[in-house]
Formats: sequence, structure tokens, C-alpha cells
Amino acid sequence: MPVKVRIDRSKCVVAHFCLFYAPTVFVPGEGGKPAVAAEYSVNGSLEEGVVPDELFESVKEAERHCPSRAIKVYRE
Ligand code: SF4
Repeated sequence: MPVKVRIDRSKCVVAHFCLFYAPTVFVPGEGGKPAVAAEYSVNGSLEEGVVPDELFESVKEAERHCPSRAIKVYRE
């Protein structure tokens, strides 16, 4: 089942835990804030993506460790 990810870049405090836990999904973007990698982006969005199920645990770890709770991960 595909996994949806969302970054609220307005909440991000640039702690970069997400880049550590899910480096193929979250990449450094403008202003150092992370963006969803182009490969997983929905319609070119920096904040919304869909990743395959095998990446669920890594994006979930990013969600758990984000100090500003800027990352949401959910299945639909
Ligand atoms: S872990 Fe959270 S606060 Fe840190 S860069 Fe990623 S989204 Fe921003």
C-alpha cells in the first residue's frame, strides 16, 4: 500500500533528522529546509509525496524524530 508523506515546511526548524532517517525521500531544499525528493513528489510539490511501502519504516522514523512535528506519514 502506498505511503503518503507530508512536510509542513512552515513548521520546520531545519534540524535535519529527516535527512538522516530517510535520505532518499527528504532532500535539502531551498533555505536548507527539506523537500520531498522529485522521484516521490506529487505533482512536483516540495511538501507532498507518495513512497513505496518498503520505505514506511524510514519515513516513520523521520516523523518520530522531527522535533517540530513537521512531518506526517500515513497510509490511505
Ligand atoms: S526533522 Fe523536521 S524540523 Fe528537522 S529538517 Fe526535517 S522537517 Fe525540518
